[in-house]
Amino acid sequence: MKRAVIVICDSLRADLITPRDAPFLSEFGQRSARFANHASVFPSTTRTSAASIATGCLPARHGLLGNTMAIDEGDGLVCLSVGKPDFRDRLHRATGRTLHRPTLAERVSRQGGTAIAISNVSPGAAYFLDPDGFGWVYNPAGSFGPGRRALPAEEGLAISKGADGDGVATERFCEEVLRGRAPAIALLWLSEPDYTGHHAPLGSPAHRRAIGSADENVRRVAETVTALDPTGDNILFVVGSDHGMETVAETIDLDGLLIAAGLEGCRDIFGGRGCTQRHIGLALFCRSYRGSRRGGGAVSRNPGLGRAHFCRSGPGRGRSPDGFPDADRGDAEARQPHQPARRARPQPRRTRRARTQGRHRLRPAWRPR
Ligand SMILES: [Zn+2]
Repeated sequence: MKRAVIVICDSLRADLITPRDAPFLSEFGQRSARFANHASVFPSTTRTSAASIATGCLPARHGLLGNTMAIDEGDGLVCLSVGKPDFRDRLHRATGRTLHRPTLAERVSRQGGTAIAISNVSPGAAYFLDPDGFGWVYNPAGSFGPGRRALPAEEGLAISKGADGDGVATERFCEEVLRGRAPAIALLWLSEPDYTGHHAPLGSPAHRRAIGSADENVRRVAETVTALDPTGDNILFVVGSDHGMETVAETIDLDGLLIAAGLEGCRDIFGGRGCTQRHIGLALFCRSYRGSRRGGGAVSRNPGLGRAHFCRSGPGRGRSPDGFPDADRGDAEARQPHQPARRARPQPRRTRRARTQGRHRLRPAWRPR
């Protein structure tokens, strides 16, 4: 093999690939090597998965630990979204490095090869495919060439998330990247069906159309690969997903539970200015990092969106949770999609006052077990 072509369909859970909704992938899986035991990393978020796909390492080794990370930029720990366009630069300034392991782009560059990624998900997930600029990364929030050289707008990727934007990205990937530039590593990261899955229940008509659009884009890439390499000896073609997704019937306000349990004062103990009331769940994880100056930090979940998700319904059933997030915020990605549906742990009885204050707030006497 001389080249590798990788397509990631964001959040396309394995059991969503059916002949009805994804006819090409269903057929393609029958005539290809299929890795049935493949599972996402933990935490199973797009950004951690992107770094794992780039490095071949679990988050504990590559160092990108979640959708949110706490870093010390000189004035205490601050909780930051990994998905923001500037997170890569802030992490580098604070810690002196980005990922702790070399990426595919770095490895092939040492051999004189090139890596090009087109990603239609959050900029954080895109940039950590090649955070140190050994190849090219294209994302709607900004595109970069070797050396992290910002590309002019006319060379960038001015598309939107969803099926339309994915279609434009796929067209450019096939014609410009695969046929024209022919890099050693070419990676296309589609936003669907994740983008639609954040707004519509799994199995809904909209979600099924999103799966269909991803399937059609993969078909187009596969046909291009076949045209370039009829024998299949020169191009390794890999299709996968970064994680799955579940429709949930209930969300639990984890931060609210911790505050109700009397842990609000912990912010004074942990001290970081990012560790405010809304970040207590994160602060619990931050403590062990206080000893390292300007160290890259701990992770739990998106600040202010700290909700544990419990599934009570299978795919295609149930209803969307309240306040379902958009794809960029990514907190729904913190769910554990590859685990079977499970029962929520029995909860303590709620007082009338607690019930009226919030759906999931427990009585103050409750303490974590
Ligand atoms: Zn994802």
